[in-house]
Amino acid sequence: MDYLYAPWRSEYFGSKQDLCVFCAISEGLNLHTNTKQDLSLSDEANCVFYRDSKIFCVMNKFPYTPGHFLILPHTHTHSPELLDLDTWLHLQTFAQKGVALLKEFGASGINLGMNIARAGGAGIPEHLHLHLVPRYIGDTNFFTTIGDTRAYGVDFNKIFKHIQTLSKTHFLKH
Ligand SMILES: [Zn+2]
Repeated sequence: MDYLYAPWRSEYFGSKQDLCVFCAISEGLNLHTNTKQDLSLSDEANCVFYRDSKIFCVMNKFPYTPGHFLILPHTHTHSPELLDLDTWLHLQTFAQKGVALLKEFGASGINLGMNIARAGGAGIPEHLHLHLVPRYIGDTNFFTTIGDTRAYGVDFNKIFKHIQTLSKTHFLKH
């Protein structure tokens, strides 16, 4: 299961800027054009489907399974105990909502996890992020199939749109 929480691939972002990639998404940098935009535009380009004052949710561009997304605080911090408690609890509330969302998306199971520091397996250890990985019966075969994730890219935007739609009911209700 190690590879399930393997790091994001660095080529995702082309890393042209020194800014932390998650801070860049948080602040509205379109990662494809490397330009700052209105959040409504950059979020669409970066596949961010939810944001509020404390957190945001973004699709993992190189998913382990279809529907894999991340929940992150806007705050740039590398370990949970450094995050203010309100934000931490808010994030965990959305983890619950995210699980419900993924069940409706069609997941048979879900992995929920956060890798702390490089030794903990974090690809971008400087900015906390919680993985929500939907699992499907027999999906271990799928992992090898998507070894070249580009093959899967065709459906990526469709899945983003589906998750985005589901988030409107799951994430906005109180
Ligand atoms: Zn950051």
